[in-house]
Amino acid sequence: MTRRDDYYNRAKQEGYRSRAAYKLKQLDELENVISGGDTVVDLGAAPGGWLQVAAEKVGPTGTVIGVDLQRIKDLDDPDLNDRVETIRGDMTEKRTRERVVDAAGGTVDAVVSDMAPNMSGEYSLDQARSLHLARQAFETALELLDTGGNFVVKVFEGPDVDDFRADVEAEFQYVRATAPKATRDESSEIYLVGKGRLTAPIRAGDELEVEIVDVGSEGDGIASVDGYRLFVPGAEDGDTVRVRVEDVKPNFGFAQRLDRD
Ligand code: SAM
Repeated sequence: MTRRDDYYNRAKQEGYRSRAAYKLKQLDELENVISGGDTVVDLGAAPGGWLQVAAEKVGPTGTVIGVDLQRIKDLDDPDLNDRVETIRGDMTEKRTRERVVDAAGGTVDAVVSDMAPNMSGEYSLDQARSLHLARQAFETALELLDTGGNFVVKVFEGPDVDDFRADVEAEFQYVRATAPKATRDESSEIYLVGKGRLTAPIRAGDELEVEIVDVGSEGDGIASVDGYRLFVPGAEDGDTVRVRVEDVKPNFGFAQRLDRD
């Protein structure tokens, strides 16, 4: 049996609306994208396989907002359906993105996008459209994700994907590109998983002058850059030092003094 049949049959047996459900399961196993209690935005959600998986993962206290050009039917399981809200609209239109922001009512924990264009059969055109949808998903993620939030996006492989990946990398602690096992063998799609949305006002490599305002439990100086905590080894409370940022995590970072060897 081919892999395709395998996942198709499993989806039927296990009550998932699409074989794609297994891709989100596999992406989540790999990178732990969705946790209990999360608010998740699912873009390109019809017919609803990812929506079912996301609703299971967020549990009874979580919420999933599914968006698609197509109408998404209510989930059969009433418990799962209670956690789900759906929006019918085009994510390339501003008013749909505004409706998603309104439905979220604040920041969210994960934005996942399986959006894909209608296939024309001409690869370069389909690939360009896929990248456009991926960039729309990225813009939505930047608007909605809380610090530390996660992003998953499908994109067809092609020339400008490296640039897109670099843009995503600048906004997350790290990015992994993967093709889950449930992806068809002949497919040229990959998924980028951005873990840990960075909202810090600084990035690795930045050089700046900071004032040490506290000392951590390990004795490192701590500077505050617009409220973001930066650990500076070898600096004392009250020092003003010039530093280079070495590592930026969602809630704190590390820097080295530049005024000392
Ligand atoms: N993840 C879904 C599941 O598990 O059932 C399958 C998604 S399917 C591969 C891609 C979806 O992207 C289609 O339902 C399509 O309507 C949607 N889509 C494509 N362009 C879109 C757009 N501009 N705005 C919203 N949805 C879009």
